[in-house]
Amino acid sequence: MLRALGLAAAAPGWGDTPIGAVVLGPDDAVLAEAANEREKRGDPTAHAEVLALRAAAAVFGDGWRLTGCTLVVTLEPCTMCAGASVLARVDQVVYGADDPKAGAAGSLWDVVRDRRLNHRPRVTAGVRAEESATLLRSFFRARRGL
Ligand SMILES: [Zn+2]
Repeated sequence: MLRALGLAAAAPGWGDTPIGAVVLGPDDAVLAEAANEREKRGDPTAHAEVLALRAAAAVFGDGWRLTGCTLVVTLEPCTMCAGASVLARVDQVVYGADDPKAGAAGSLWDVVRDRRLNHRPRVTAGVRAEESATLLRSFFRARRGL
């Protein structure tokens, strides 16, 4: 999570929201990492989680399955990213701050543990949540010019 927080802290440098993600292999080695690059790439899907999952799939496994892997992200995943972690078959999602406005790992929806889906990653919430929330608060405060 410390590594993900470091990535998150860099994102405002190119105008993106400070969110960072790391994908760990079954042996806990870092497979891939990314920060939010939505503004940088002009891509609505360039969330840190999606970029990290894509990069991890390129170096691990049979092409796209991330069986045994863990997605670590500083903010609770949105519906797209929660969906992507289910589709990637990660074993575990670990996140920092809750996102009551858009979170899809328990706050607003619970896409990752929906019993109707055939794969449900384990979820660990609240890891270094305050550090993640502080990064986000400072970013939005600066953007509002306060
Ligand atoms: Zn997302």
